[in-house]
Amino acid sequence: MSDDRSETGVRRRSVLQTVGGAAGIALLGAAGTTAAVAQDGTENGQPRYQLPELPYEYDALEPHIDERIMELHHTEHHQAYVDGANDALEEFEAMRDAGEFDDVRAAKRDFSFNLSGHVNHTIFWENMSPDGGGEPEGTLATAIDENFGSFADFQAEFTATANNVEGDGWAMVFYEPLADALVIGQVEGQNELAHQRAIPILTLDVWEHAYYLQYENDRGAYVDEWWNVVDWADVERRYELLTDVDAPDLEDETPADPDEDEPEADEPPGEPGEPGEPGPNGEPGNGGPGDGPMGPEGDGGPMGPEQN
Ligand code: MN
Repeated sequence: MSDDRSETGVRRRSVLQTVGGAAGIALLGAAGTTAAVAQDGTENGQPRYQLPELPYEYDALEPHIDERIMELHHTEHHQAYVDGANDALEEFEAMRDAGEFDDVRAAKRDFSFNLSGHVNHTIFWENMSPDGGGEPEGTLATAIDENFGSFADFQAEFTATANNVEGDGWAMVFYEPLADALVIGQVEGQNELAHQRAIPILTLDVWEHAYYLQYENDRGAYVDEWWNVVDWADVERRYELLTDVDAPDLEDETPADPDEDEPEADEPPGEPGEPGEPGPNGEPGNGGPGDGPMGPEGDGGPMGPEQN
């Protein structure tokens, strides 16, 4: 019980902001755009998802990704995931109202697939920019060097990962909080090969609908071109949201409740986390809800911690 507050407070809020919803608003707002992005929220008190607007025009990523691909991908494919997730939520309500759960398995599968599709695409759009390309800088560049040896090694692993997704799926860079590491993973479909608790900060859609109109069956050419539109500033903001959490508060704050310092039962005793850095379990520790650097956005956002 002692660490529940930090788990459900600072960490969860940060995670929610980073994957979409309020995150889109906060991140894109910080970048100076006024585009209306993900407005996931509620309808009659029930959670509902909405298709976010893109932070650029459909033709903005040409010649690397052409206008028609972007338009279809956004208005048809992404919309279908949004609709599918909302349909599943309505099915859940209907089942609860009827007290009948015979179709629960299919509905839960639909929800997992479609919600994952919505989240994956929301990050994908924001990860790209007509001013993208080049190499990351700052804390992200340092983390990539530490985790992969060099940017070139990172890029080679990510490219190979994307090119070798079996069938439709994604290549992603995750922040993995248990090891405080960046890892590259594959996702099949929208939600298979789960990396539980790891949070994507960079997503590349390698479903055929993402490239076939322009590149036909040459996925490798599409991946090579995609590097030219990666918005490293967006990726770095996501990384910093997940890793900075409430580091400033750890420096000076004495916890009001001494119980909060007790490590979880499954943690090695002794080291509850270095001040200024997340520990191996990402202990947000002493900062309660509202104490973290992202407090105001998290509390007011439509994807706030109350959702789940
Ligand atoms: Mn897609």
